[in-house]
Amino acid sequence: MTMVTKIARDDDVFLTESPTYGTPIHNFDTFRSTHTLLCNHDVVHRIAIIASEIPHHPATADFIKANVQHFDFAVHGWTHAEYQKWRRPAWVQNSLSRAVAAIEDTFGVSPKVFVPPWNKLSPIVRQVCANLGLAIDESPFIGDIGNQRVDHVHFHSWNKKQVGMLREWLLRK
Ligand SMILES: [Zn+2]
Repeated sequence: MTMVTKIARDDDVFLTESPTYGTPIHNFDTFRSTHTLLCNHDVVHRIAIIASEIPHHPATADFIKANVQHFDFAVHGWTHAEYQKWRRPAWVQNSLSRAVAAIEDTFGVSPKVFVPPWNKLSPIVRQVCANLGLAIDESPFIGDIGNQRVDHVHFHSWNKKQVGMLREWLLRK
């Protein structure tokens, strides 16, 4: 029997408002309980971090710091920007470099993966990621996979409906 490592990419960690136009989205309690759920199923919990928002959620930051080895770090942007519309590589590179540095400073870990906001990319964003040594995570949304066998999905841990879909995915053989 071969064991496949499942990866669950958790988007918008630390994000407070954008892109939901004012609805607060980050929920530490759901984040923490989802983390326990994923650990219990030996699934990699990949957190897609909005770096500028880290200071807004100190409890989440402290929890991640205390459990660094149980997370896989990805950068989701300095803000939840539409990087695919940015016209100059230097702008994208400065923003992503700043985000990577903030994650390194806070958690002592270098993210090696970029999660594009809204899963949208451009040739410039792809080139900047190559320059920075960042792989790109384009895993499908948990709500779009139906009953397919997929080992790598993305979801939002603050959304109870999506955590429910995640539970079903975890039990799928
Ligand atoms: Zn996002």
